Amino acid sequence: MTITRSGYVAIVGRPNVGKSTLLNKILGKKVSITSPKPQTTRWQILGIKKVADAQIIYVDTPGINHEEKRAMNRYLNRLANSVILDADVIVFMVDATIWRREDEMVAERLKTTDKPIILVINKIDLIKDKAALLPVIDKLKNKLDFAAIVPVSALKKDNIESLETDIVKLLPEGPQLFPDDQITDKSPRFQVAEIIREKIILATEEELPYATTVEIEQFQVGEKLTEIGAVIWVERPGQKAIIIGTKGTKLKKIGSAARRDIEKCLGAKVFLRLWVKVKEHWTDDDKALRSLGYE
Ligand code: GDP
Ligand code: MG
Repeated sequence: MTITRSGYVAIVGRPNVGKSTLLNKILGKKVSITSPKPQTTRWQILGIKKVADAQIIYVDTPGINHEEKRAMNRYLNRLANSVILDADVIVFMVDATIWRREDEMVAERLKTTDKPIILVINKIDLIKDKAALLPVIDKLKNKLDFAAIVPVSALKKDNIESLETDIVKLLPEGPQLFPDDQITDKSPRFQVAEIIREKIILATEEELPYATTVEIEQFQVGEKLTEIGAVIWVERPGQKAIIIGTKGTKLKKIGSAARRDIEKCLGAKVFLRLWVKVKEHWTDDDKALRSLGYE
């Protein structure tokens, strides 16, 4: 079918509501890493999908946060804001089980846009009694002038198709913007760095997930084996010791979990080398952020 509608759909909301999970489930492939911790998504990530006669370009965003003190958090909020400005349709995602001050902040931010907004109420799988959903919808429906309200479970892929139907209706007329076989704008190199970061986030506690970034130094595709070398940057020597773990056990665990996912993602056998290095205060240093790719 030829494409007659196309456009960008920004997925916005506070951290942890399930934005990246939704993107992955819609695409049927993991293009954006997920975890229960904030700051898991630090980049704008495109997911491209054809639905009937439309090409939908989803834009996953970092959660809008209220912490403006650190350079990293300011960067994340700027990014989310620029995605809103460039979008044709906005998906405002909230968690069916709880409305927080940060959700209110996102709603406030969205009052200044004239783009159509779909309210997506996620995680309905956590609400056992479906009747309990009605008061939730009732409470949220007047927060903004919504074009549609769609309760979903991203995790269980519940009601996702009806969300896509609503999105297509709101897309402007336009041509196909990306080739048929392209599903994301991110390179394999980027995806590998993100997979490693996801394993670190899942394996560490407290401030460590936020103090970490990953840089790929070597990416060599061979006939039998792809060799990858990556540096894990942290802010302090103590953090380096934690990631490495006693006798290197933690780093080894992170490495093998990452390698399994990387092999799946690249469809190739992988040899992965990881180093941990310290760059003091990189999360609060605009120059260091830029040098690590956060622009
Ligand atoms: P993001 O920060 O908004 O991108 O959120 P993520 O996609 O990283 O998800 C945050 C957490 O919520 C992860 O642990 C997900 O597994 C979980 N999650 C996402 N969607 C659902 C859902 O529909 N139901 C349930 N129960 N958990 C979900
Ligand atoms: Mg995310």
